[in-house]
Amino acid sequence: MPRHDPHSYADLKQGSIERIDFDLRIRMDERDIHGVARYRLDRPSPGVLDLDTHRITIDSVRSEKTDLPWSLEPEEAILGQRLHIEGLTGAKEFSLAFRCTEEARALQWLNPEQTASGKHPFLYSQCQSINARSLFPCQDSPSVRFTYSARVRAPAPLRVVMAAAPGDEGSDQQGSFHRFEMPQPIPSYLFALAVGEIVSKEVSHRCRVYAEPALIDAAAWEFGEMEMMLSHGEELFGPYLWDRYDVLVLPRSFPYSGMENPRLTFLNPVLVTGDRSETDTLAHELAHSWTGNLVTNATWEDFWLNEGWTSYAESRITERLSGEDLAQLLNVAKSGQLREDITRYGADSKLTCLKYSQEGIDPEEAFSRIPYYKGQFFLVNLERAAGRQAFDRFIREYIQAFAFRSITTEAFLEFLHQRLPQAAARVPIDEWIYRPGLPSSLPEFRSRYYDQVAAVVSAYREGRLPTRAEVSGWTPRQREVLLLMLPERIPEQDVRALDEAFDFASTVSYVTLSYFYRLAILSGYQDILPRAQKFVLDTGPLLSMERVMRALAQTDWSRPHARPLFERVRPRIHPVTGARLARELDRAGA
Ligand SMILES: [Zn+2]
Repeated sequence: MPRHDPHSYADLKQGSIERIDFDLRIRMDERDIHGVARYRLDRPSPGVLDLDTHRITIDSVRSEKTDLPWSLEPEEAILGQRLHIEGLTGAKEFSLAFRCTEEARALQWLNPEQTASGKHPFLYSQCQSINARSLFPCQDSPSVRFTYSARVRAPAPLRVVMAAAPGDEGSDQQGSFHRFEMPQPIPSYLFALAVGEIVSKEVSHRCRVYAEPALIDAAAWEFGEMEMMLSHGEELFGPYLWDRYDVLVLPRSFPYSGMENPRLTFLNPVLVTGDRSETDTLAHELAHSWTGNLVTNATWEDFWLNEGWTSYAESRITERLSGEDLAQLLNVAKSGQLREDITRYGADSKLTCLKYSQEGIDPEEAFSRIPYYKGQFFLVNLERAAGRQAFDRFIREYIQAFAFRSITTEAFLEFLHQRLPQAAARVPIDEWIYRPGLPSSLPEFRSRYYDQVAAVVSAYREGRLPTRAEVSGWTPRQREVLLLMLPERIPEQDVRALDEAFDFASTVSYVTLSYFYRLAILSGYQDILPRAQKFVLDTGPLLSMERVMRALAQTDWSRPHARPLFERVRPRIHPVTGARLARELDRAGA
């Protein structure tokens, strides 16, 4: 059975789905979704069609009122179950009735207590990378794009939002419904919905923030620069082709900082810090409107095409919005995080390559910042080799050439060699893309903010700790870079002194705190335990939670606390986060 994508049963010789019309009924108390979906293929079917599913119940498969034969094959790890449909010869359309439950790994069903108001349940989806198949049967490969409509029923007074154009609300004998239309073709991983007590506030004529009522004003202020970011994006990368750009601020258990669902970015509320210091995540998700959502990786093996390009694009937007000093400081932080991830996997691990075979590997498990930052720094090298003007022209040509298409790394490299042959010849492309570890030509970044941090770090190496006055004006990112630059373990009394100088007890930056707690735990600063426990229990993006849990599990004094803490937090977090943390603890023997 030929498969072009190691994470999907899709066989493109059978045709590709080009349109789906959904009718969905969401029951919050029962925690299930009943769906009927009408599918259209891009050509008459040769007879059979394989779709991806994961723990979905199929009730019927029909074509023009005739029941079609179908079978669900035994579940395989990672992939799920192949739904094999027969009897489609010559047909372009068919429909499926299906049900998904609490077991759907794309979904997190939240109790009222897990929301800001505590009054209503909340539901949201996270389909990247291969979770859309747990929500509806599909060719769950980023190489297949389709448009869709959806009629969604959910219990009043809850509001449904989707990464699509909202249509009217209506009602019939079965109750009220919300309608959505997605006119731009998307891969399945960009299908997204949320249901809950959600209100909205306009930011500009094409930008709106959605959030729970308690957060809406703070969120609308925090992300108030989105229109400006969008304009910078258009100037840099070409027209914005998705009509509107809105964001939805989710409850804290959302596993990522942000998810670039088209027309409706999903964001974690830990980014609402009151000082706009974490809005580079918004710039990142918004930049995906060009790199990732418009030009998409063909398989998850080409993930760096989505994330390396977007980290690069995000940095260009930040540079325009907040100046070069801040943009370059963030790049220094990214260099530190890249080294951290490469060290964790080992410099000869294939997981540190930009492209490698992912046969038998769960993309969720392979998730790290390597495709993001190693990818970005590869592009920075190309930019420096080509000169910014030529590279900017190349970016726009690249996006225009592949808009609404899904491409492989090799297709990108071919385009690069055609359009920028001289720059391509000056960068060791093979080393960057196909070899593990840190490439020898890692770019350096200069920033006034960084110089201040470097001065404090070298004073520390000579035995002098920073005073509160010295660091009082520092940005949260400077603190983060400092923590990344310090040794992994330092004397316990030094941790205490840093805790006071930086006033970490009143720091709100989630990422910065995760680095501080890690340092404190590894250094044996046992007073930190209640704060570190609270940090984990409050929940937040996966990578930061994982950093603290891993430190707890790795250190002798804290190891006995790791498993009980995990058991307490597990019911509050997304299944993806839970599975990752469980693996971490198993690995550490906690
Ligand atoms: Zn991204």
